[in-house]
Amino acid sequence: MCLALYVELVGVSTDKAEEIAAHCSTISDLIVRPAVSSGDQANCHFVVVEFSEGCACSMLAEHASPEAPTWSLRPDVLPKLASVLRCLLARTRSGVGLEAAWLGDDDEPTEVRVSSRDLLAVVAEGGIRTKTRYLTAT
Ligand SMILES: [Zn+2]
Repeated sequence: MCLALYVELVGVSTDKAEEIAAHCSTISDLIVRPAVSSGDQANCHFVVVEFSEGCACSMLAEHASPEAPTWSLRPDVLPKLASVLRCLLARTRSGVGLEAAWLGDDDEPTEVRVSSRDLLAVVAEGGIRTKTRYLTAT
């Protein structure tokens, strides 16, 4: 199984995706990659990874379990992830969606509405919940 970390920028046209990904990768020490979305041109989709090849699994702590209520990410990754999120939040006025999920997991995530500030706190404190899709509204 493979962990994927998705971030969607609501209301940001996909032609901006490459530039935003490059910028937010530079400032965060992680790699933000535009993700292919099925014909959705009105919202930018990204995945966040640690290395240019592969997935988000390398960010998991050793004891991480998919059965746990929250994802155990390595403590040193958390501030980098918070920087990515802060960078992406700065590019939209309509909010972001954030979800960490196993690739191929068919379970519908629970949608949780949070403020941008609360979502940043969740990420910085390593509290991203499994089977959850966070949506910020401004
Ligand atoms: Zn993986």
